This record gives sequence, C-alpha cells and structure tokens, in this order.
Amino acid sequence: MALQDRVATALAEVADPAGGGDVMASGRVSGLVVKPDGAVGLVLAVDGLDRAAAERLQAATEVAVNRVAGPKAARIILTADRGSVAADARPAQSTIPGIRKLIAVASGKGGVGKSTVSVNLAVALARQGYAVGLLDADIYGPSVPTLLGIEGRAALEGNRLQPALAHGLKALSMGMMTDPGKAIIWRGPMASSALVQMVEQCDWGVLDVLVIDMPPGTGDVQLTMAQKLKPDGAVVVSTPQDLALIDARRAVAMFGEVGVKVLGLIENMSGYACPECGAVSHPFGQGGAEAEAAAIGAPFLGRVPLDMGIRSDSDAGQPGRGVAAEAFLPIALRLARETGL
Ligand code: ADP
Repeated sequence: MALQDRVATALAEVADPAGGGDVMASGRVSGLVVKPDGAVGLVLAVDGLDRAAAERLQAATEVAVNRVAGPKAARIILTADRGSVAADARPAQSTIPGIRKLIAVASGKGGVGKSTVSVNLAVALARQGYAVGLLDADIYGPSVPTLLGIEGRAALEGNRLQPALAHGLKALSMGMMTDPGKAIIWRGPMASSALVQMVEQCDWGVLDVLVIDMPPGTGDVQLTMAQKLKPDGAVVVSTPQDLALIDARRAVAMFGEVGVKVLGLIENMSGYACPECGAVSHPFGQGGAEAEAAAIGAPFLGRVPLDMGIRSDSDAGQPGRGVAAEAFLPIALRLARETGL
C-alpha cells in the first residue's frame, strides 16, 4: 500500500472528538499529501472544539501519522472558522512554547517517593486523554528510566533532544543523558541552567502538561528552576515523618518565595497494609501531612499507602497499576481541575 493510503488508514483510527466517526469520515482532515522528503502534510479543521480538545486531537493526529510515516513526519496545519475557540489567541501558555501547563513535583528531601508520585500522576493524567510529558530533573538520582522501563540515551535530532515514549508519556530524564553508573557532578548555577536548557531544548511537541520531577531539597538549584520555569503549580510530597514534614514546610516556603502556587501536599507511604494479614500499621505516624497542610494553609491533596505492589511495579517499570492507579487518579483529577487543564 502506498504511504499516503497507509497514513489515511491510520488516521481513520483517530476518533472525531465531536462525534461523527473518525477524522477522515467526518471531514476534519483534508489535503493529505506525502512530500518527496517523506513529510506528510495535512489540514486539520478544529472547528467546534475547545482548546484542550483541539490540542489533544492535534497530538493524536500527529501520533497516527508518525506511526506509519516515521518520527517527525507530520506537518499539520490547524484551521478553524472565525469565532471558534481554537482560532483565538493561544491558550494561556507556560514558559515553554507548545506546553500549556507546567506542574512541579517537589520534596524537601530525597527518598520520600517524589519520583514515584511524579510518574504515577503523569500516567494518570495521560489516561485521562491529556498529552503529557515528564521531565526527570533529579540530578542526584534520576529514577524515571527505571520507573518507566526506559533504556538507552536520549537521541539528538538537529539540536533537539528527543524524549522517550513510554506508558503514553513523553519522558526525558537526566538518566538518559549519561552512561549508567557514571555520576554527573554539577554544582549550583551549572546544574540549574543545564536543567532549564534540557526542558527548553527538548522536542516535546504539543503538550497539555509537563510534569517536572524536581531535584529533592530546597537549595539554589531548585529555587532557580522554579524561578526560571515558573510552573503553574507545585505539588509537595512528604512522608508522615516529622523530619520530612519540616523539609516539606521548607519546600512550600520556597515556592512561596518565587510566587509559584502550591497546589498542595501529598502524603506518601501513609500507612502500611500487611500483605499477609491485611492489618494496617503506621510506621511513620498518621495524619501528619494533613495536619501540616492545614497549619501552613496548603491544600491536602491525598495520601498514598506504602504498598508492596507500588514498590515492585516501580522496580519493574510498570506504573499505574493496582493501588497506585486507585490512589493517584483522584489526585490527578484534582490537579487537572486546579491548573485549568
Ligand atoms: P524520591 O524520588 O523522593 O527519591 P522514589 O520515588 O525514588 O523517591 O522512591 C524511593 C523508594 O521508595 C523507591 O524504591 C520506591 O519504589 C519506593 N516507594 C515510593 N513510594 C512508595 C509507596 N507508596 N509504596 C511503596 N514503595 C514506595
């Protein structure tokens, strides 16, 4: 089958969000051409769709074209009648072109499950149909490649880093920049400028939201990142331990300093359900994060139990299953609502 026909077949699997079958049958796609260099051009009419739906449709169309024509083959021109929402000015953009919202996931210290939370929130949002990216900015111990089962290094096309595609996300990690086992030693300003550059030079395409797994702690690197990227909101992860809560308080204060809205606190490793007898114990205390959230005026977003399945799925690169799927969905929905996704 000719490439043009194969692309048309792939597009016939993309549903029209307004109903009426697929985007070929409903007439949203027109002017499909394959250029001599292999690029695939098409016009996508987004009339009647709100911005989020239009962007999701654009992303789905791009994915369908690239799947058969090769990465980056799609050249999509969006059109809409005057008066349609998508023809208006672009939606409130984040600091990165093409990305609507940035959500930072932070913690006052390492080991509280910040990366586990970032990955599972990103997966939960992607399952809601958002185009989601995940940046693992943890320079001290990038764990996102393991959590998502990504192997190898990030490819460079032109001067743009290519994110890996995994579990419905576009992901980029510091762990994809170096050889495994090699420590990167970056200090202060070097680390923060490299991290900001990584976000800006990555080929994210069009994203509804980029979840940023911040480096743990509240030092200069974190402060500069927050200042330069200006996330639309920040989530602070804490265990119920007092010590971690003191650190969480610092993280909340840091975002306050640079004018980033704290969306709320997530209490991770909250209670332990014994896999043998089902009894729930509280090795790190109980309810600490909720009380702390109230004390500092940050919303409490929810708790995630300490669960053997979360632990083993993390090691196996299989996020978003079992207890994780249940615990993170309501939190992800709330974040989507509060950031106006
Ligand atoms: P951080 O990013 O804060 O350093 P990680 O997300 O890497 O923390 O988590 C640290 C360890 O704790 C990992 O081994 C992870 O699998 C485990 N972990 C995190 N959250 C949970 C949870 N809710 N239940 C069980 N294990 C968890």
